[in-house]
Amino acid sequence: MRRKNEAPQPCIRPEQPGPALERVRERVRTCIQCGTCTGSCPNAFAMDATPRKLWRLVLMGQTREIFETRTFALCSDCYCCTLRCPRGLALTDAMADLKQIAAAEKHGGDPACTAFYRAFLRSARQYGRVQETRLMARYLAVMTPRRPLMPFRFSGLGLQMIKKGKISLRRPAGGRTLEGLFARIESRRNGQ
Ligand code: SF4
Ligand code: SF4
Repeated sequence: MRRKNEAPQPCIRPEQPGPALERVRERVRTCIQCGTCTGSCPNAFAMDATPRKLWRLVLMGQTREIFETRTFALCSDCYCCTLRCPRGLALTDAMADLKQIAAAEKHGGDPACTAFYRAFLRSARQYGRVQETRLMARYLAVMTPRRPLMPFRFSGLGLQMIKKGKISLRRPAGGRTLEGLFARIESRRNGQ
């Protein structure tokens, strides 16, 4: 991936975007590259490609580069960019589309982002909310074989949070499972 402020190079061998990516391209078709989305994004500091650059890659059809970024995975759906885009583009929805395409088409992407998303969704599905310690246990179970030192990075903070009662090891009390909702969405997606 290129560095943060580096302009995208002309697409020498454009890859053919699939129909799903074509939908994202249509969403941002009138982007004027003003950068307001990047300036509005609270997570841009952590993204390897800014939102503005990501939309440029989409318009250029650079599929591989799009799915090599962590940008859409780090979008927290705050809608700031959508509210401020001078072209009124549905940017948060476009970010969500990219997350779905990455998951459905098994694009490589960033393994840490993918593992975190899966653990997050599993926790929400099972407990109706995020249960932080179980989320981290699932995340670290996937990531530790790849990054053996990762548990040590989080252990100090985790123990402090447990000590102060910010997070709990117990199963959430009275939480409603979202299994039924997830199952309905899956069957609708599969056309059943
Ligand atoms: S704010 Fe809208 S028009 Fe400006 S760069 Fe972002 S997507 Fe494009
Ligand atoms: S919706 Fe996502 S991309 Fe847009 S400003 Fe919020 S975090 Fe950034």
